[in-house]
Amino acid sequence: MPGMGRIRYGNRGNRSYVCPMTLTIPFDNSYARLPDGFFARQAPEPVRAPALIAFNTDLARLLNISPGEAQEMAQAFSGNHLPEGADPLAQLYSGHQFGHYNPQLGDGRAVLLGETVGADGVRRDIQLKGSGRTPFSRQGDGRAWLGPVLREYVVSEAMHGLGLPTTRALAAVETGETVLREGPMPGAVLTRVAQSHLRVGTFQVFASRGQTDSLRRLTEYALHRHYPEADGPMGLLRAVRDAQAALIAGWMSVGFIHGVMNTDNCSVAGETIDYGPCAFMDSYHPNTVYSSIDRMGRYAYSNQPEIAVWNIAQLATALIQQMDDKDAAVEEATEIVHAMPDLMQRHWLDRFRAKIGLTSAEQDDLQLISDLLARMAQNQADFTNTFRALGTETARDQFTDPQAFDAWEDGWKARLQREASALSVMAAANPAYIPRNHRVEQMIQAAVQGDFTPFHRLNKVLAAPYQEQAGCSDLARPPSEAEVVHATFCGT
Ligand code: AMP
Ligand code: MG
Repeated sequence: MPGMGRIRYGNRGNRSYVCPMTLTIPFDNSYARLPDGFFARQAPEPVRAPALIAFNTDLARLLNISPGEAQEMAQAFSGNHLPEGADPLAQLYSGHQFGHYNPQLGDGRAVLLGETVGADGVRRDIQLKGSGRTPFSRQGDGRAWLGPVLREYVVSEAMHGLGLPTTRALAAVETGETVLREGPMPGAVLTRVAQSHLRVGTFQVFASRGQTDSLRRLTEYALHRHYPEADGPMGLLRAVRDAQAALIAGWMSVGFIHGVMNTDNCSVAGETIDYGPCAFMDSYHPNTVYSSIDRMGRYAYSNQPEIAVWNIAQLATALIQQMDDKDAAVEEATEIVHAMPDLMQRHWLDRFRAKIGLTSAEQDDLQLISDLLARMAQNQADFTNTFRALGTETARDQFTDPQAFDAWEDGWKARLQREASALSVMAAANPAYIPRNHRVEQMIQAAVQGDFTPFHRLNKVLAAPYQEQAGCSDLARPPSEAEVVHATFCGT
């Protein structure tokens, strides 16, 4: 019987009552109202035996979603049962992958269920990832396995906890099916929430096909949805540039390496999106690469600002295709793109000044920060722990040669004389906890064995990464030699 078993008891006045507890999502689907060429209508493919692993109640509250009981949510967030108001579709996009243009990508293992407007007035996409094949699947099976689903859940929520713009995780469900990767793996579906899934590649696909009307329509849509105060294609370009510049500086400040900064993974809303082979650095080195598919180091830590500019240049190229006066557009777009490195550098300086406790700006600050980073690189200092320990006795212990730190510290202390609130500034800029690779890997291994305790523990601690938490020092510790993760995988 429908509704059976979904009852909860409550109190209204003095009388207790029983009401059905039903998942409700207040959908309002604007993308589905765009013309047909923007997407393919596609229902998720049902799975055998869905079981709910996690549901993000804080995020649900923000989205005005009322939760249902576990089995109902497992049915909904696996795609077995469509919640009322959903209008599932797979989005079309293309993109440059490792610098090479792929004329058609699109949601190959995801469907957009629809959008909701949250308590904060922000419209967000609700997307199932791993929900089966779509017209854009190419050779893929449209599925995801548990490892990447839990990795994305933990790392995207950690990114949010760190205070950086990111897609988020609403739910994770096991499918009860097996997915074939290196071997048979447990299948899973992630429910991803994003301010939108518009990417640079969404513009590229229409531009490269010469579909100017669609390109104009998409530009209007993006402006209206994300940057209502901006005007026209060049206004959009400027706004996306600004958002991406701020985002990448944020990544640099927490030692994050995205790993696949392809233009299809570059969000128009300026959120971190697509947690494939991403990683947070342990010991600092500017050339660090984790992704197993990034053999040339194109997306190495220190290359990220340059790649972001390259991606924005691709967006510029796409947007220009709709302009009547192309020469003038090229000139304006060039100016916009060329201003990005300086912009990013300013954000970067703000971030790193805060990391060493500075609120005022002085000419020599860049030199002071660069000098510390150079010494950290030479001394295999842990990125997170070095900054967190600044001003304490243990900072120097992070360096293979502690005297390399002492020499820097003298200059820093002299500079701090001219600062009032260094300690509180640093505490808010330097997390104690990041989702360290070895902990994420251990969490996945446990989950595959059916133990989700490490998964839930990571989520809990990483929700407040700037706060020292009792009994969690193991999560702040860098990996031992044996624990070091040398390569991360897309997991597709
Ligand atoms: P990503 O590496 O996640 O950015 O994905 C790149 C492209 O490959 C996108 O078009 C994805 O939809 C597609 N893709 C990745 N994994 C799969 C899969 N298992 N099945 C179908 N398409 C996939
Ligand atoms: Mg992608």
